[in-house]
Amino acid sequence: MSKIAYLNGRFVKLKDAKINIEDRGFQFSDSIYEVIAFKNCKFIDLKFHLIRLRNSLKFINIKYKFTNKNMENKFFRLISMNKINSGLIYIQITRGVQPRSHAYTINLKPTIVIYIIKKNFNDKINKLISKTAITYPDLRWKRRDIKSVSLLPNILAATEASNKSSYEAILIENGYVTEGTASNIWMVKNRILKTHPANSDILRGITRDSIKKLIKKYKLKLIEKKIKKESLYISDEVFLTSSSSFVTPIVKIDNKLINKGKIGNITMELARLYNLRTI
Ligand code: PMP
Repeated sequence: MSKIAYLNGRFVKLKDAKINIEDRGFQFSDSIYEVIAFKNCKFIDLKFHLIRLRNSLKFINIKYKFTNKNMENKFFRLISMNKINSGLIYIQITRGVQPRSHAYTINLKPTIVIYIIKKNFNDKINKLISKTAITYPDLRWKRRDIKSVSLLPNILAATEASNKSSYEAILIENGYVTEGTASNIWMVKNRILKTHPANSDILRGITRDSIKKLIKKYKLKLIEKKIKKESLYISDEVFLTSSSSFVTPIVKIDNKLINKGKIGNITMELARLYNLRTI
């Protein structure tokens, strides 16, 4: 069965979904995106992803109007046309097509692409899979709060991790952790959780926000403060969060074992609570 994508108002075969070579998303990464997980045809935190999508559009002044209902209907149609029950919705909106010039003209017609990626999630609580990570310099621009498709530094870091058989690269700036290439990073020391504050140095993850709510509900302690690279190595637990990886334990960073290579209790509990929300 051929895969179906949505492109500018039409449902088309993935191989027929063609983009103009003067699309600014293609030429300049003048474009934003969003990734939304769905499990058994149920979206996870859809409302919050659509808020962030609107914010990203606003930040870079792309005028694309949509209603939540309309967007949700498109997602459901793709799910049913592609016969996929669990996976990720990828949505990208570019500023549109214009003869090549750095400065954009107003009133371009945005390009919108939506398609689905099948995925099985790391959500079996008695079989939660731990991963390893490396550290890597954070080479990105200063507005990481915008979910832009300019991901070259993330790509280089993630590829280095992959070449070293690691799952994620933890990005380091001036000796401190910012986040992962596609995730937020958390550590636990003496039962206190720590993660980077949500400012323009990181992307404010939707999963990060959900975990914060669980931390509050279950009266755990959280400090939103930058983490020193060295304190990661000697922490009791490290985990990452993202829409596609949920809560994923990290048990080795740069060849240093965390918690003797075992998944920690707080990570396990948060993973369990998060996964319960997605059933
Ligand atoms: N930081 C970066 C750089 C990311 O790409 C992602 C994945 N979108 C995250 C954090 C986690 O965000 P979310 O929980 O919304 O998937």
